[in-house]
Amino acid sequence: EQLTLSIIKPNAVAKNAIGAICGRFEQAGLQIVAARMLHMSLEQASAFYAEHQGKGFFDELVGFMTSGPVLVMALQGEDAIAKNRELMGATNPANAAPGTIRADFADSFTENAVHGSDAPETAEREIGFFFPDGICK
Ligand code: ATP
Ligand code: MG
Repeated sequence: EQLTLSIIKPNAVAKNAIGAICGRFEQAGLQIVAARMLHMSLEQASAFYAEHQGKGFFDELVGFMTSGPVLVMALQGEDAIAKNRELMGATNPANAAPGTIRADFADSFTENAVHGSDAPETAEREIGFFFPDGICK
């Protein structure tokens, strides 16, 4: 089985959507095997999104991700990475299919409710970033 990193972003935490979003993961067969709530520092958010440094939306993204607490989770399941991205919907909520998490909980392109790893190598890096001591299995 595969692992992926999920983040419930500050806008979704603020609108009390943690339960609804986690319910979708569990209903789809993704098991929450690690979880941590934190308010990221500018340094943490910049390091997490290092691949986007220099892009036009970077400052807005880092500002948003540090605007309030987030819930970071490792999800485990068959095809967890693809399954999670399917549940999330398109990055730009304007293009997110009806019934996806972003269609239902995003407020804008930047404030799009959730993050999910996009490949096995990314998942490994991202899980190590937030769970350096490993996860509960
Ligand atoms: P995520 O990494 O959050 O799961 P993603 O992989 O679909 O989303 P990326 O291209 O990695 O999208 O961008 C990371 C995040 O940066 C997006 O989720 C979104 O919050 C923000 N973002 C990306 N592109 C834009 C943009 N053009 N305008 C505003 N915000 C953007
Ligand atoms: Mg990404």
